[in-house]
Amino acid sequence: MTLHTGRHFLQIPGPTNVPDRVLRAMDMPTLDHRGPEFAELGYAVLAGCQRIFRTKQPVIIYPASGSGAWEAAIVNVLSPGDKVLLAETGQFAVLWRGIAERFKLDVEFLPTDWRRGADVEQIEAKLAADRAHKIKAVLVVHNETSTSCVTHPLEVRKALNRTNHPALLMVDTISGLAALEYEHDAWGIDISVGGSQKGMMVPPGLSFNAVSEKALAAAKANKSAMRSYWDWHDMIEINKQGTFPYTPATNLLFALKEAIAMLEEEGLDNVFLRHKRHGAASRAAVKAWGLELVCLDPHCYSPALTAVMVPDGNDADNFRKVVLENFDMSLGTGLGKLKGKAFRIGHIGHFNDLMLMGTLSGIEMGFDLAKVPHRAGGVLAAMEVLKGRDVVPMPKSKAAVA
Ligand SMILES: *Cc1c(COP(=O)(O)O)cnc(C)c1O
Repeated sequence: MTLHTGRHFLQIPGPTNVPDRVLRAMDMPTLDHRGPEFAELGYAVLAGCQRIFRTKQPVIIYPASGSGAWEAAIVNVLSPGDKVLLAETGQFAVLWRGIAERFKLDVEFLPTDWRRGADVEQIEAKLAADRAHKIKAVLVVHNETSTSCVTHPLEVRKALNRTNHPALLMVDTISGLAALEYEHDAWGIDISVGGSQKGMMVPPGLSFNAVSEKALAAAKANKSAMRSYWDWHDMIEINKQGTFPYTPATNLLFALKEAIAMLEEEGLDNVFLRHKRHGAASRAAVKAWGLELVCLDPHCYSPALTAVMVPDGNDADNFRKVVLENFDMSLGTGLGKLKGKAFRIGHIGHFNDLMLMGTLSGIEMGFDLAKVPHRAGGVLAAMEVLKGRDVVPMPKSKAAVA
Protein backbone atom coordinates (compact mmCIF):
# COMPACT_ATOMS: atom_id res chain seq x y z
CA MET A 1 0.00 0.00 0.00
CA THR A 2 1.19 3.50 -0.81
CA LEU A 3 1.70 5.75 2.17
CA HIS A 4 -0.11 9.04 1.73
CA THR A 5 0.65 12.28 3.51
CA GLY A 6 -1.41 15.44 3.87
CA ARG A 7 -5.15 15.50 3.28
CA HIS A 8 -7.05 13.21 0.97
CA PHE A 9 -8.59 15.06 -1.99
CA LEU A 10 -12.26 14.08 -2.04
CA GLN A 11 -13.38 15.44 -5.40
CA ILE A 12 -16.45 13.32 -5.89
CA PRO A 13 -19.73 15.23 -6.29
CA GLY A 14 -21.10 13.95 -3.00
CA PRO A 15 -20.69 13.12 -0.28
CA THR A 16 -18.54 16.24 -0.25
CA ASN A 17 -15.88 17.57 2.09
CA VAL A 18 -17.23 18.55 5.50
CA PRO A 19 -15.72 21.77 6.88
CA ASP A 20 -13.80 21.44 10.16
CA ARG A 21 -16.24 23.91 11.71
CA VAL A 22 -19.10 21.59 10.90
CA LEU A 23 -17.23 18.55 12.22
CA ARG A 24 -16.58 20.36 15.49
CA ALA A 25 -20.19 21.47 15.76
CA MET A 26 -21.29 17.82 15.58
CA ASP A 27 -18.92 16.76 18.30
CA MET A 28 -21.50 17.16 21.05
CA PRO A 29 -22.91 14.91 23.72
CA THR A 30 -26.17 13.27 22.74
CA LEU A 31 -29.10 15.53 23.43
CA ASP A 32 -32.51 14.52 24.80
CA HIS A 33 -34.68 15.07 21.74
CA ARG A 34 -37.72 15.42 24.01
CA GLY A 35 -35.93 17.65 26.51
CA PRO A 36 -36.19 21.41 27.00
CA GLU A 37 -33.01 22.30 25.07
CA PHE A 38 -33.85 20.48 21.89
CA ALA A 39 -36.50 22.82 20.50
CA GLU A 40 -34.00 25.65 20.07
CA LEU A 41 -31.96 23.46 17.72
CA GLY A 42 -35.11 22.18 16.02
CA TYR A 43 -36.49 25.65 15.33
CA ALA A 44 -33.10 26.90 14.13
CA VAL A 45 -32.60 24.18 11.51
CA LEU A 46 -36.22 24.21 10.32
CA ALA A 47 -36.08 27.99 9.77
CA GLY A 48 -32.57 27.75 8.28
CA CYS A 49 -33.75 25.17 5.74
CA GLN A 50 -36.59 27.47 4.72
CA ARG A 51 -34.02 30.19 3.97
CA ILE A 52 -31.86 27.80 1.94
CA PHE A 53 -34.80 26.55 -0.15
CA ARG A 54 -36.06 30.16 -0.27
CA THR A 55 -39.51 29.26 0.93
CA LYS A 56 -42.01 30.37 3.55
CA GLN A 57 -43.57 26.90 3.36
CA PRO A 58 -42.66 23.97 5.63
CA VAL A 59 -39.44 22.05 5.02
CA ILE A 60 -39.44 18.47 6.28
CA ILE A 61 -36.13 17.09 7.56
CA TYR A 62 -35.80 13.31 7.41
CA PRO A 63 -33.09 11.22 9.04
CA ALA A 64 -32.47 9.50 5.68
CA SER A 65 -30.30 9.68 2.60
CA GLY A 66 -31.60 11.56 -0.42
CA SER A 67 -33.40 8.46 -1.67
CA GLY A 68 -35.68 8.62 1.38
CA ALA A 69 -36.81 12.12 0.44
CA TRP A 70 -37.37 10.91 -3.15
CA GLU A 71 -39.70 8.24 -1.81
CA ALA A 72 -41.39 10.70 0.55
CA ALA A 73 -42.18 13.08 -2.33
CA ILE A 74 -43.92 10.25 -4.15
CA VAL A 75 -45.83 8.55 -1.34
CA ASN A 76 -47.29 11.70 0.18
CA VAL A 77 -49.09 12.95 -2.92
CA LEU A 78 -49.44 10.05 -5.37
CA SER A 79 -51.32 6.75 -5.46
CA PRO A 80 -50.79 3.55 -7.46
CA GLY A 81 -51.90 4.01 -11.05
CA ASP A 82 -51.29 7.78 -11.08
CA LYS A 83 -49.59 8.97 -14.23
CA VAL A 84 -46.38 11.03 -13.98
CA LEU A 85 -43.88 12.44 -16.47
CA LEU A 86 -40.24 11.94 -15.58
CA ALA A 87 -37.41 13.35 -17.68
CA GLU A 88 -34.65 10.78 -18.19
CA THR A 89 -31.68 13.09 -17.83
CA GLY A 90 -29.28 10.48 -16.43
CA GLN A 91 -28.74 7.83 -13.78
CA PHE A 92 -30.45 9.73 -10.95
CA ALA A 93 -33.62 10.07 -13.03
CA VAL A 94 -33.40 6.31 -13.68
CA LEU A 95 -33.18 5.63 -9.94
CA TRP A 96 -36.11 7.94 -9.13
CA ARG A 97 -38.17 6.14 -11.76
CA GLY A 98 -37.33 2.85 -10.03
CA ILE A 99 -38.93 4.12 -6.82
CA ALA A 100 -41.97 5.46 -8.69
CA GLU A 101 -42.49 2.11 -10.39
CA ARG A 102 -42.27 0.16 -7.15
CA PHE A 103 -45.13 2.30 -5.93
CA LYS A 104 -46.99 1.29 -9.11
CA LEU A 105 -47.10 4.75 -10.66
CA ASP A 106 -47.65 4.90 -14.40
CA VAL A 107 -44.36 6.56 -15.37
CA GLU A 108 -43.88 8.10 -18.79
CA PHE A 109 -40.12 8.35 -19.08
CA LEU A 110 -39.05 11.07 -21.51
CA PRO A 111 -35.66 10.06 -22.88
CA THR A 112 -32.62 12.24 -23.55
CA ASP A 113 -29.14 11.20 -24.69
CA TRP A 114 -27.85 11.98 -21.13
CA ARG A 115 -25.86 14.91 -22.55
CA ARG A 116 -28.26 17.77 -21.84
CA GLY A 117 -31.08 18.78 -19.50
CA ALA A 118 -34.70 17.71 -19.80
CA ASP A 119 -36.45 18.45 -23.07
CA VAL A 120 -38.85 21.11 -21.83
CA GLU A 121 -40.55 21.44 -25.23
CA GLN A 122 -41.36 17.75 -25.12
CA ILE A 123 -42.73 18.09 -21.58
CA GLU A 124 -44.88 21.01 -22.71
CA ALA A 125 -46.21 19.03 -25.69
CA LYS A 126 -47.15 16.11 -23.41
CA LEU A 127 -48.92 18.48 -21.00
CA ALA A 128 -50.77 20.26 -23.81
CA ALA A 129 -51.98 16.93 -25.21
CA ASP A 130 -53.24 15.79 -21.80
CA ARG A 131 -56.61 17.56 -21.88
CA ALA A 132 -58.09 15.15 -19.33
CA HIS A 133 -55.33 16.05 -16.85
CA LYS A 134 -54.33 12.45 -16.26
CA ILE A 135 -50.75 13.53 -15.55
CA LYS A 136 -50.55 14.13 -11.79
CA ALA A 137 -46.93 15.23 -11.53
CA VAL A 138 -43.89 16.23 -13.55
CA LEU A 139 -40.59 15.05 -12.05
CA VAL A 140 -37.22 16.55 -13.00
CA VAL A 141 -33.70 16.38 -11.62
CA HIS A 142 -32.31 19.91 -11.21
CA ASN A 143 -28.60 19.07 -11.24
CA GLU A 144 -28.19 15.62 -12.82
CA THR A 145 -25.11 14.47 -10.94
CA SER A 146 -24.36 11.64 -13.37
CA THR A 147 -23.95 13.93 -16.40
CA SER A 148 -23.32 17.44 -15.01
CA CYS A 149 -26.32 18.75 -16.94
CA VAL A 150 -28.80 21.14 -15.36
CA THR A 151 -32.54 21.28 -15.99
CA HIS A 152 -33.82 24.75 -15.13
CA PRO A 153 -36.91 24.22 -12.93
CA LEU A 154 -38.39 27.62 -13.79
CA GLU A 155 -38.56 26.61 -17.47
CA VAL A 156 -40.59 23.55 -16.50
CA ARG A 157 -42.88 25.69 -14.31
CA LYS A 158 -43.45 28.02 -17.28
CA ALA A 159 -44.40 25.03 -19.46
CA LEU A 160 -46.97 23.97 -16.83
CA ASN A 161 -48.34 27.50 -16.66
CA ARG A 162 -48.52 27.96 -20.43
CA THR A 163 -50.55 24.77 -20.74
CA ASN A 164 -52.66 25.60 -17.66
CA HIS A 165 -51.87 22.12 -16.41
CA PRO A 166 -52.52 21.37 -12.72
CA ALA A 167 -49.84 18.65 -12.37
CA LEU A 168 -47.51 19.01 -9.38
CA LEU A 169 -43.91 19.98 -10.13
CA MET A 170 -41.38 17.85 -8.23
CA VAL A 171 -37.72 18.75 -8.40
CA ASP A 172 -34.78 16.69 -7.17
CA THR A 173 -32.26 19.34 -6.16
CA ILE A 174 -30.21 16.99 -3.99
CA SER A 175 -26.95 18.07 -5.63
CA GLY A 176 -28.24 21.50 -6.63
CA LEU A 177 -29.15 22.81 -3.18
CA ALA A 178 -26.69 25.42 -1.88
CA ALA A 179 -24.60 25.11 -5.06
CA LEU A 180 -26.95 26.38 -7.78
CA GLU A 181 -29.52 29.13 -7.56
CA TYR A 182 -32.78 27.70 -6.26
CA GLU A 183 -36.12 29.35 -5.45
CA HIS A 184 -38.75 26.97 -4.14
CA ASP A 185 -41.47 29.63 -3.82
CA ALA A 186 -40.64 32.05 -6.62
CA TRP A 187 -40.27 29.24 -9.16
CA GLY A 188 -43.54 27.62 -8.18
CA ILE A 189 -42.05 24.29 -7.17
CA ASP A 190 -44.51 21.98 -5.40
CA ILE A 191 -42.07 19.51 -3.90
CA SER A 192 -38.33 20.09 -3.67
CA VAL A 193 -36.18 17.13 -2.71
CA GLY A 194 -32.84 17.91 -1.06
CA GLY A 195 -30.01 16.10 0.71
CA SER A 196 -27.37 16.99 3.26
CA GLN A 197 -24.20 15.60 1.71
CA LYS A 198 -23.68 17.67 -1.44
CA GLY A 199 -23.76 21.47 -1.51
CA MET A 200 -24.94 21.56 2.09
CA MET A 201 -21.53 20.33 3.35
CA VAL A 202 -23.07 18.07 6.00
CA PRO A 203 -22.29 14.34 6.25
CA PRO A 204 -24.74 11.95 4.58
CA GLY A 205 -27.86 11.12 6.56
CA LEU A 206 -30.34 13.98 6.26
CA SER A 207 -32.72 14.74 3.44
CA PHE A 208 -35.46 17.27 2.83
CA ASN A 209 -38.85 17.90 1.27
CA ALA A 210 -39.94 21.51 0.79
CA VAL A 211 -43.67 21.49 0.12
CA SER A 212 -46.04 24.01 -1.47
CA GLU A 213 -49.58 24.61 -0.26
CA LYS A 214 -50.80 22.77 -3.32
CA ALA A 215 -48.61 19.77 -2.45
CA LEU A 216 -49.94 19.78 1.11
CA ALA A 217 -53.51 19.82 -0.18
CA ALA A 218 -52.70 16.93 -2.54
CA ALA A 219 -51.24 14.97 0.37
CA LYS A 220 -54.36 15.57 2.43
CA ALA A 221 -56.58 14.42 -0.43
CA ASN A 222 -54.41 11.34 -1.09
CA LYS A 223 -56.29 8.43 0.42
CA SER A 224 -53.90 5.65 -0.59
CA ALA A 225 -52.23 5.95 2.85
CA MET A 226 -49.10 4.12 1.68
CA ARG A 227 -47.02 6.13 4.06
CA SER A 228 -46.08 6.22 7.70
CA TYR A 229 -42.44 7.12 8.32
CA TRP A 230 -42.54 9.63 5.45
CA ASP A 231 -45.87 11.25 6.36
CA TRP A 232 -45.57 15.03 6.08
CA HIS A 233 -48.61 15.68 8.24
CA ASP A 234 -47.19 14.14 11.43
CA MET A 235 -43.87 15.91 10.87
CA ILE A 236 -45.33 19.34 10.28
CA GLU A 237 -47.63 19.12 13.28
CA ILE A 238 -44.91 18.22 15.74
CA ASN A 239 -42.29 20.48 14.08
CA LYS A 240 -44.46 23.36 15.34
CA GLN A 241 -43.02 22.55 18.79
CA GLY A 242 -39.49 22.43 17.36
CA THR A 243 -39.38 18.67 17.69
CA PHE A 244 -39.86 15.53 15.60
CA PRO A 245 -42.27 12.56 15.62
CA TYR A 246 -39.41 10.06 15.96
CA THR A 247 -35.78 10.36 17.00
CA PRO A 248 -34.09 12.90 14.72
CA ALA A 249 -30.41 12.59 13.76
CA THR A 250 -29.51 15.02 16.56
CA ASN A 251 -25.79 15.36 15.87
CA LEU A 252 -26.38 15.85 12.16
CA LEU A 253 -28.77 18.66 13.07
CA PHE A 254 -25.93 20.39 14.94
CA ALA A 255 -23.89 20.00 11.74
CA LEU A 256 -26.73 21.37 9.63
CA LYS A 257 -27.09 24.44 11.83
CA GLU A 258 -23.38 25.24 11.52
CA ALA A 259 -23.31 24.60 7.76
CA ILE A 260 -26.25 26.95 7.24
CA ALA A 261 -24.42 29.58 9.29
CA MET A 262 -21.36 29.20 7.04
CA LEU A 263 -23.45 29.45 3.85
CA GLU A 264 -25.13 32.58 5.17
CA GLU A 265 -21.86 34.19 6.24
CA GLU A 266 -20.58 33.78 2.69
CA GLY A 267 -23.99 34.78 1.32
CA LEU A 268 -25.95 32.32 -0.81
CA ASP A 269 -25.53 34.45 -3.92
CA ASN A 270 -21.77 34.40 -3.44
CA VAL A 271 -21.91 30.64 -2.93
CA PHE A 272 -23.64 30.29 -6.30
CA LEU A 273 -21.10 32.58 -8.02
CA ARG A 274 -18.22 30.61 -6.53
CA HIS A 275 -19.60 27.37 -7.94
CA LYS A 276 -20.12 28.99 -11.35
CA ARG A 277 -16.53 30.22 -11.40
CA HIS A 278 -15.18 26.80 -10.52
CA GLY A 279 -17.37 25.22 -13.17
CA ALA A 280 -16.09 27.68 -15.78
CA ALA A 281 -12.45 27.05 -14.78
CA SER A 282 -12.92 23.27 -14.90
CA ARG A 283 -14.51 23.40 -18.34
CA ALA A 284 -11.66 25.61 -19.59
CA ALA A 285 -9.22 22.91 -18.44
CA VAL A 286 -11.18 20.18 -20.21
CA LYS A 287 -11.24 22.21 -23.41
CA ALA A 288 -7.49 22.84 -23.26
CA TRP A 289 -6.87 19.11 -22.68
CA GLY A 290 -8.77 18.53 -25.92
CA LEU A 291 -11.30 16.29 -24.17
CA GLU A 292 -15.06 16.27 -24.43
CA LEU A 293 -17.53 17.31 -21.76
CA VAL A 294 -20.41 14.92 -21.15
CA CYS A 295 -22.73 17.94 -21.28
CA LEU A 296 -23.14 19.18 -24.85
CA ASP A 297 -25.43 22.15 -24.17
CA PRO A 298 -23.82 25.28 -22.66
CA HIS A 299 -27.25 26.33 -21.34
CA CYS A 300 -27.12 23.23 -19.11
CA TYR A 301 -23.53 23.28 -17.83
CA SER A 302 -23.45 22.44 -14.13
CA PRO A 303 -21.64 24.75 -11.70
CA ALA A 304 -21.40 21.90 -9.16
CA LEU A 305 -19.44 19.27 -11.03
CA THR A 306 -17.91 18.57 -14.43
CA ALA A 307 -18.29 15.18 -16.11
CA VAL A 308 -15.59 14.42 -18.67
CA MET A 309 -15.53 11.78 -21.43
CA VAL A 310 -12.25 9.88 -21.78
CA PRO A 311 -11.13 9.21 -25.36
CA ASP A 312 -12.38 5.92 -26.86
CA GLY A 313 -10.24 2.96 -25.95
CA ASN A 314 -9.45 4.34 -22.46
CA ASP A 315 -11.05 3.17 -19.25
CA ALA A 316 -12.15 6.07 -17.07
CA ASP A 317 -12.12 3.86 -13.96
CA ASN A 318 -8.54 2.79 -14.60
CA PHE A 319 -7.62 6.47 -14.86
CA ARG A 320 -9.40 7.16 -11.56
CA LYS A 321 -7.49 4.29 -9.95
CA VAL A 322 -4.16 5.70 -11.13
CA VAL A 323 -5.07 9.12 -9.71
CA LEU A 324 -6.13 7.62 -6.39
CA GLU A 325 -2.99 5.52 -6.02
CA ASN A 326 -0.59 8.26 -7.03
CA PHE A 327 -2.17 11.40 -5.65
CA ASP A 328 -4.64 10.20 -3.01
CA MET A 329 -7.48 11.89 -4.86
CA SER A 330 -10.97 10.45 -5.38
CA LEU A 331 -12.75 11.44 -8.57
CA GLY A 332 -16.37 10.51 -9.30
CA THR A 333 -16.96 7.34 -11.32
CA GLY A 334 -19.09 7.21 -14.45
CA LEU A 335 -22.62 6.10 -13.53
CA GLY A 336 -25.03 3.89 -15.45
CA LYS A 337 -24.30 3.92 -19.14
CA LEU A 338 -21.35 6.28 -18.62
CA LYS A 339 -19.49 3.64 -16.55
CA GLY A 340 -15.90 3.43 -17.76
CA LYS A 341 -16.51 6.16 -20.34
CA ALA A 342 -16.55 9.25 -18.15
CA PHE A 343 -15.27 10.52 -14.81
CA ARG A 344 -16.65 13.36 -12.74
CA ILE A 345 -14.87 16.25 -11.06
CA GLY A 346 -16.77 17.45 -8.01
CA HIS A 347 -16.27 21.15 -7.25
CA ILE A 348 -19.21 21.41 -4.93
CA GLY A 349 -19.59 22.40 -1.29
CA HIS A 350 -16.63 23.28 0.92
CA PHE A 351 -14.19 24.29 -1.78
CA ASN A 352 -11.83 27.03 -2.98
CA ASP A 353 -9.59 28.08 -5.87
CA LEU A 354 -6.48 26.24 -4.70
CA MET A 355 -8.42 23.05 -4.01
CA LEU A 356 -9.63 23.27 -7.61
CA MET A 357 -6.09 23.87 -8.89
CA GLY A 358 -4.83 20.89 -6.88
CA THR A 359 -7.64 18.78 -8.29
CA LEU A 360 -6.97 19.77 -11.89
CA SER A 361 -3.21 19.27 -11.44
CA GLY A 362 -3.82 15.75 -10.15
CA ILE A 363 -5.99 15.05 -13.19
CA GLU A 364 -3.43 16.41 -15.68
CA MET A 365 -0.59 14.44 -14.07
CA GLY A 366 -2.87 11.40 -13.91
CA PHE A 367 -3.52 11.60 -17.66
CA ASP A 368 0.24 11.29 -18.24
CA LEU A 369 0.63 8.36 -15.86
CA ALA A 370 -2.44 6.51 -17.17
CA LYS A 371 -1.47 7.34 -20.77
CA VAL A 372 -4.78 9.03 -21.53
CA PRO A 373 -4.25 11.02 -24.76
CA HIS A 374 -4.62 14.74 -24.08
CA ARG A 375 -2.93 18.09 -24.66
CA ALA A 376 -1.03 19.82 -21.88
CA GLY A 377 -2.18 23.18 -20.54
CA GLY A 378 -5.51 22.46 -18.86
CA VAL A 379 -4.26 23.66 -15.49
CA LEU A 380 -2.98 26.90 -17.02
CA ALA A 381 -6.28 27.49 -18.81
CA ALA A 382 -8.14 27.08 -15.51
CA MET A 383 -5.75 29.54 -13.83
CA GLU A 384 -6.58 32.14 -16.48
CA VAL A 385 -10.25 31.83 -15.59
CA LEU A 386 -9.60 32.01 -11.86
CA LYS A 387 -7.39 35.08 -12.32
CA GLY A 388 -10.57 36.71 -13.54
CA ARG A 389 -9.52 37.32 -17.14
CA ASP A 390 -12.47 35.26 -18.22
CA VAL A 391 -16.23 35.46 -17.61
CA VAL A 392 -17.80 35.04 -14.17
CA PRO A 393 -17.02 37.89 -11.75
CA MET A 394 -15.40 37.32 -8.37
CA PRO A 395 -17.91 36.97 -5.55
CA LYS A 396 -17.98 39.93 -3.21
CA SER A 397 -15.97 39.21 -0.10
CA LYS A 398 -17.65 39.32 3.29
CA ALA A 399 -15.77 42.51 4.14
CA ALA A 400 -16.97 44.17 0.95
CA VAL A 401 -20.56 43.33 1.78
CA ALA A 402 -20.37 44.72 5.30
C1 LIG B 1 -26.82 12.01 -4.51
C2 LIG B 1 -28.07 12.14 -5.30
C3 LIG B 1 -29.21 11.38 -5.04
C4 LIG B 1 -29.27 10.22 -4.09
O1 LIG B 1 -29.08 10.51 -2.81
P1 LIG B 1 -28.66 9.40 -1.74
O2 LIG B 1 -28.31 10.24 -0.59
O3 LIG B 1 -27.51 8.62 -2.32
O4 LIG B 1 -29.84 8.54 -1.51
C5 LIG B 1 -30.35 11.65 -5.76
N1 LIG B 1 -30.37 12.57 -6.74
C6 LIG B 1 -29.28 13.30 -7.05
C7 LIG B 1 -29.37 14.30 -8.14
C8 LIG B 1 -28.11 13.10 -6.35
O5 LIG B 1 -27.01 13.81 -6.67
